[in-house]
Amino acid sequence: MLKRHTLIHYLHELLDIDRFKDYAPNGLQVEGNAEIRHVVTGVTASLALIEAAIELGADTLLVHHGYFWKGENPVVCGLKKQRLARLLAADMNLLAYHLPLDAHPQWGNNAQLGALWQVHNIQALASEPLVLQGEFEAALSGASVAQRLTETLHRPPLHIAAERPIRRLAWCSGGAQGYIEAAAAAGVDAYISGEISEQTTHIARELGIHYFAAGHYATERFGAKALGEHLSAQFDLQCSFVDVDNPA
Ligand SMILES: [Zn+2]
Repeated sequence: MLKRHTLIHYLHELLDIDRFKDYAPNGLQVEGNAEIRHVVTGVTASLALIEAAIELGADTLLVHHGYFWKGENPVVCGLKKQRLARLLAADMNLLAYHLPLDAHPQWGNNAQLGALWQVHNIQALASEPLVLQGEFEAALSGASVAQRLTETLHRPPLHIAAERPIRRLAWCSGGAQGYIEAAAAAGVDAYISGEISEQTTHIARELGIHYFAAGHYATERFGAKALGEHLSAQFDLQCSFVDVDNPA
């Protein structure tokens, strides 16, 4: 039987957690059962995901967005009370991995996106190591890239179009639109992230590069899913990814 501390230690090493200065604790956030048989993976530890994990008979929830974010009110009231009460009553472990699960070179959201979009010669930006850059097999039109994103993420991106064809691109999952200038400085034709801010449109136009907002949730589903598949191959445990659809 897999012990909780064995899994936590394994993930700590695998995801190289000590390398990150993050906005929330990475690792065990809520303690449940000491023995692990069934892990549900998902993007956000919302009440809907907790209920789904309980329904599936899981003892552990492994997510990208957990709790206890820097700057939030630490008081356990309202939504946070509801969520914690459900986890504790079910004796469910909550494991959360934020930046380490964006950045991991194999199981990370960004690495998974690079493989999904068939990007070659992938490397991190020197100025922003969370952001990856690479190139397509040939120069593509903005519309073709939008099509590739739609097919792989199952939703159309919001595209701020530029004139140039796209050979080199950079990307970072989630709410990483703020890295667009760092991406442009690296000489890419397009930058892709999950969300868009009002000013991102103007920045993209003035820099003359394409910007694609492909969805925060849509770009962050892959890391937790891939990590769960890896864990079920590595250990004697069941892993199920649960999609809680989110248009944002
Ligand atoms: Zn996120």
